[in-house]
Amino acid sequence: MKRGSSELQAALANIERNHLLRERHTVEGYEESGNRVTLRQSGRALVDFSSNDYLGLARHPAIAAAMCDSAARYGTGSGASHLITGHSIEHARLEEELAAFTRRERVLLFSTGYMANLAILTTLAGRGETVLLDRLSHASLIDGGLLSGARLKRFAHADVSAARSAIANCSVLATDGVFSMDGDVAPLPALACVASEHDAWLVVDDAHGLGVVGASGRGSLELHGLDAIAAPVLMGTLGKALGTFGAFVAGSAELIELLMQKARSYIYTTALPPPVAAAARTALRIMQREDWRRERLVELTHRFRRLASERGIPLLPTGGTPTPIQPVMLGTEQAALHAQRELSEDGFCVVAIRPPTVPKGSARLRVTLSAAHTESQVDALVETLSRVCSRLVSHS
Ligand SMILES: *Cc1c(COP(=O)(O)O)cnc(C)c1O
Repeated sequence: MKRGSSELQAALANIERNHLLRERHTVEGYEESGNRVTLRQSGRALVDFSSNDYLGLARHPAIAAAMCDSAARYGTGSGASHLITGHSIEHARLEEELAAFTRRERVLLFSTGYMANLAILTTLAGRGETVLLDRLSHASLIDGGLLSGARLKRFAHADVSAARSAIANCSVLATDGVFSMDGDVAPLPALACVASEHDAWLVVDDAHGLGVVGASGRGSLELHGLDAIAAPVLMGTLGKALGTFGAFVAGSAELIELLMQKARSYIYTTALPPPVAAAARTALRIMQREDWRRERLVELTHRFRRLASERGIPLLPTGGTPTPIQPVMLGTEQAALHAQRELSEDGFCVVAIRPPTVPKGSARLRVTLSAAHTESQVDALVETLSRVCSRLVSHS
């Protein structure tokens, strides 16, 4: 791009013309009334059906207290990268506890899931190699593949035979465990076979599965009964169901050691603040102790799907395991934006998701449920969605 404000204006005008302008919704505060997740937006309180705080842990008092205690003891910043002096006892304990939780030999903490995925792909693949990705894989897996210098191949979403036809000579097969925008679970047992038959690393990004699916919340690998041999590289995040921030890779001792030695997104960045690690440790304990959060989430998800399908709201099929990500498919960018505005007028925050986050023609409202929602909030959301969707259909 040439230097100059007219160049920037033209680029922005182009985004706006295509209904793809992105906006932020500034949260001014949260209401504590009961278990309502209500946020204040442009002066109005909206019920938040867009966050990834699936278990309602992001504003848990015990987790906040752990963060405060740790800040008083260790300070607010880690002060350096992990390999200099930024690695504190809170980080070390969190890594041990996550290794025990995921039943892997070792865990390496990262500041974000985005950086963890860059680390995995740049360490396991390089120039002259090929990486195979599900077409709907998260942007950070795609960017990791691009940064690695390997050739990228993509297979049709969740299509095992397409993966099998493309896998020859690939060193890595990477997929979301639970897909972030569709909410379906990857066909992991079959993908694990495909990867293992061709000696490719299976990388599972379980940002949306961890804490949410599996009998004890261990994620999509537990759901499918896959062990560390079947799925040797597991990425999980702490900023979604665990209500804090950061991410980790779990795997064999050698894998983790090599990531630590080589991954630039691990080496050249400041370690997470110790209070964040302390908060994540408390969140992990609460999540394991309080199964009711996951059970409640399942109940609310079933309730939402049952009511929404009675009203003819266009949901995606679940493929067997419903997750708290329940997109309402609207097609065009304009329809999704219009629905977002109407919902906001009725007191709901449900953000429109448009290309390039999702494929062209599949703009949607991404409804996410949380254990912190009430039945009546879910019921009221379905009422409004039903009205908005039928109006959109009659106008099209
Ligand atoms: C959110 C997300 C990430 C990135 O994690 P951050 O910690 O937010 O950087 C990676 N993969 C998937 C599938 C995600 O949904």
